[in-house]
Amino acid sequence: MKDLRFVFADEELVAEFLKFAKEHTREKTTRLLTLYKKNSQIVTDDYKGHNVWKILKSIFWQKQVRRCAICEKELNEINSYDVEHYIPKTEFWWYAYHTANYYVACGTCNRIEKNDEFPFFSPTPLINYEKRKLFSNCYPLLINPLHENPYDYFRVIFQADAKTNKKVVVLAPLKKLDDLQRQKAITTITIFNLNLKKELLPSRKVQMEWNIKLYNKLFKLAQKVKNNEPDLQEYFDNLDEDYKNLGYASMIMKGNVEII
Ligand SMILES: [Zn+2]
Repeated sequence: MKDLRFVFADEELVAEFLKFAKEHTREKTTRLLTLYKKNSQIVTDDYKGHNVWKILKSIFWQKQVRRCAICEKELNEINSYDVEHYIPKTEFWWYAYHTANYYVACGTCNRIEKNDEFPFFSPTPLINYEKRKLFSNCYPLLINPLHENPYDYFRVIFQADAKTNKKVVVLAPLKKLDDLQRQKAITTITIFNLNLKKELLPSRKVQMEWNIKLYNKLFKLAQKVKNNEPDLQEYFDNLDEDYKNLGYASMIMKGNVEII
């Protein structure tokens, strides 16, 4: 999972957000409000023909160094990834065109694993449009990489898969977390199926086993961190930009890593 807090400081992205907001946010949110007042519910079909988020795809793709914000799979085919809404647009439709709610995620993370799941720390009052102000008092159990650093939640574990004995990279909550943070880290891992505990989708399986070259680079980095080797920084500096920009690499460099 990648730390995306840079997006609000990136001049190019901010310019795109302003353009998007000017062209779409007010007009399309007003349209949804009109529909809501008629039906008291917004459904997926209400967005048909109004899914303008795809115009933000390429800039996010480029800024996220061509990887899914959640699982960090490489994104090559434009139809295989989406502009994901951190706050789901069906239940919380008034956030659908809110530009602080977006990043790019692969189709598996967005459409299959997360879908519209968005749990809160209980007890949470019912939130609808009329009670939308209550949202800011609630505590979502999904880490929001746009506003908080995921590297403060996870450690990277290199291990062999119990069933296949293949090398895999998984995430686990950091040991120092308090109960609430731990619940948030675990919920994020579970909802996105980052550690393959739910049904094993072929696309996810391939991705979590990663390509062996990438695995070996990160494994070597992890070994250098664990052994406190003097050439650690030099090794990191010489990695390809693609590897260096991985959230996994950042977590490893912070020492949040275990080799089993
Ligand atoms: Zn993904």
